[in-house]
Amino acid sequence: MYWNREAETMPMERVRKLQDTLLRDTVAQAAGSHFYGERFAALGLTPADIRSVDDLSKIPFTTKDDLREDWPYGFVAVPREELVRMHSSSGTTGRATVIFHTADDLDAWTDLLARSMYMAGMRKGDVFQNMMTYSLFTGGLGFHYGAERVGALVIPVGAGNSKRQIQLMSDFGTTAMHIIPSYALHLSSVFEEMGLDPRRDTALKLAFLGAEPHSEETRRRVEDYYGVKAFNSYGLSEMNGPGVSFECSCQCGMHIWEDNFIVEVIDPKTMEPLDEGEEGELVLTTLKRRGMPILRYRTKDLTRIIPGDCPCGRTHRRIERIKGRTDDMMIIKGVNIFPIQIEKRLMDIPGVGSNFQIILERKDYNDHMIVKVEVQREIFTGNLKQLEDLRRKIIEELKSDILITPKVELVEPNSLPKTEGKAVRVIDNRERQQ
Ligand code: ADP
Ligand code: ZN
Repeated sequence: MYWNREAETMPMERVRKLQDTLLRDTVAQAAGSHFYGERFAALGLTPADIRSVDDLSKIPFTTKDDLREDWPYGFVAVPREELVRMHSSSGTTGRATVIFHTADDLDAWTDLLARSMYMAGMRKGDVFQNMMTYSLFTGGLGFHYGAERVGALVIPVGAGNSKRQIQLMSDFGTTAMHIIPSYALHLSSVFEEMGLDPRRDTALKLAFLGAEPHSEETRRRVEDYYGVKAFNSYGLSEMNGPGVSFECSCQCGMHIWEDNFIVEVIDPKTMEPLDEGEEGELVLTTLKRRGMPILRYRTKDLTRIIPGDCPCGRTHRRIERIKGRTDDMMIIKGVNIFPIQIEKRLMDIPGVGSNFQIILERKDYNDHMIVKVEVQREIFTGNLKQLEDLRRKIIEELKSDILITPKVELVEPNSLPKTEGKAVRVIDNRERQQ
């Protein structure tokens, strides 16, 4: 049941002690980098000032902009020749950041992924199809090595080329897949096009969904359509990539591996720490990375720590599914809205297809939201009344959640733009319409 019982079920008091030791090492290591060397000097801080996790607040937060500014090697804390791998972020919110690893860093990361996938039920003997981009993106190689360590047969197909994905799945008996949730929804329409049904024509039983926010409703759709159990996988390149936090078989929040990361949740406005259970921005500190330690990294991801123990017996605390990034928040007519609220409602409405897009416009000094929604083929080609009923239902459902009335346009399946990577949900045209 456990990949590493000792590490996964360690009592919290021991985790805290371990964190103190690892934090001291990490801070001493970080002091050797250009960035933290200068930062500590400017604050008159020495590694000896950080004795335990209680001292963490003496260290300022690190941001994505810090990483961008001390480009490219400013955070590296080992001699250059000890680095064996570079990765980068996807660049979703601006210039991508780069991360470097030593061989030991990669080993620790691989172990976290093996632990995570094993926790969700993958075993030696499984056939694992990795449908994430290989290359600088961490979701490809990260999962790849983790799955090999578990002992699965890995099909390193990478992203895109949907028909080939399906062919591989059915020919080689894929049992587990790693897939971006919006792509999993899209792929279902390709299955339909090919006249195939994953429940009948594949041996799939597990899906790891990660890299972008998605709702419980999307998870359910993926589970129902593919006949799998789907697990939420969270990570970010700055903290290695996937393997930071992952769901166990309870599917009741994601365990965050506290023997590898220190977890804080702060109010993104005041930057004050929040209590367990309160929603805010996740802040993480690496504890096992030598090549490029990062202290108190502001992830910009919104979540909360779920209070209480998990029935699976693992002691590491759980975070709730990510609501989105602080940057994802749309302010429309003074109302704060996250794309996931819209996704959640849409995915719960029968007849709604696999893709949608939110367009924001400004006319006569007023904000307008247009939601384009793909509908299922039989509805799209069905009678007009049915289509209109669905449109009204969508407006009603969205309005009850986001409190404003969006304009809803129903469109043909597969007609909205798709990406191979993270879905682009919002097109904001308001700036140029001021
Ligand atoms: P970028 O920050 O440029 O997108 P990354 O590839 O490092 O680059 O992506 C990490 C980010 O992706 C996270 O900070 C988070 O916003 C998002 N993300 C990753 N996994 C999940 C998940 N399971 N749920 C929600 N968001 C996720
Ligand atoms: Zn659990």
